Amino acid sequence: MGYIDLHLHTTASDGVKTPSEMVRYAKFKGLQAISITDHDTIGGLEEGLEEGKKIGFEVIPGIEISAEHSPGSMHLLGYFIEIDDSLLNERLRYLQKAREERNPKMVEKLNQLGVHITYEDVLRVSGGGQVGRPHFAQVLIEKKYVKNFQEAFDRYLKKGAPAYVDKLRFTPVEAIRFIREAKGVAVLGHPNTLGLNGYGELERLLIDLMKAGLKGIEVYYPEHSFFEIAQYKALAEKYGLVMTGGTDYHGIEKEDLDVGVGRGDMKLPYSIVEELKAVRTL
Ligand code: AMP
Ligand code: ZN
Ligand code: FE
Ligand code: FE
Repeated sequence: MGYIDLHLHTTASDGVKTPSEMVRYAKFKGLQAISITDHDTIGGLEEGLEEGKKIGFEVIPGIEISAEHSPGSMHLLGYFIEIDDSLLNERLRYLQKAREERNPKMVEKLNQLGVHITYEDVLRVSGGGQVGRPHFAQVLIEKKYVKNFQEAFDRYLKKGAPAYVDKLRFTPVEAIRFIREAKGVAVLGHPNTLGLNGYGELERLLIDLMKAGLKGIEVYYPEHSFFEIAQYKALAEKYGLVMTGGTDYHGIEKEDLDVGVGRGDMKLPYSIVEELKAVRTL
């Protein structure tokens, strides 16, 4: 049995490889299957699935949805979604509209801070896909306002920084609902960004999300510590959640991170895909 990667970004959101490039690259790396999980969009899935068919490689249609949560951020992953589901498409159009309203506001805020970039600059680096903060970061680096990605986020773009503009989100329950409506399996992405205080808080959150139909938790993730992985595993076992994993490869900034292997120590067996398939119909 081969290995997989269930968390990847393409040019449809803020990654640098096109969906076809990603699929070819994953096959070249010797993986057995991947999922493309762009932020709030399924814009890359048709191309990715098509390429998979062409070269004989399994591509699982996926998505990563940002949900309402504080103090940290909550990302919900959806696997095996049907990309022509009408409710899903309607919800995603709404999110795209929200971004179209948000992005010019971020440009405006940057301009007020003496950072002279235009929306056209951002659109240019986004390469035609959905625009997100990493594209703003790229422009800030290009125009020498910051030295690197992290500085761009820390000084300007991260939640609470002076150029940050919040975007409209669905509640976790709404997001899980429309993932399920599209016959997808809802999984809680990288729990370490939730900003929760320990096992008990995460446990309470999981119980609520499971009531809405959550079926899995992303246990294996490059930014999770051994301690966090152990915690998430214990919770997954306690509640019968599928333990998924992925690298969250974008192809920007983190040069030591690669598809399938993360920082070299990731090995996700294909059996995870089978477990996801098994809970899909529940
Ligand atoms: P957006 O979709 O515009 O909200 O941007 C979200 C993306 O920005 C995430 O997927 C990360 O790639 C990146 N990002 C968000 N917060 C940070 C941060 N504090 N430091 C570095 N990158 C970040
Ligand atoms: Zn991203
Ligand atoms: Fe995420
Ligand atoms: Fe991601």
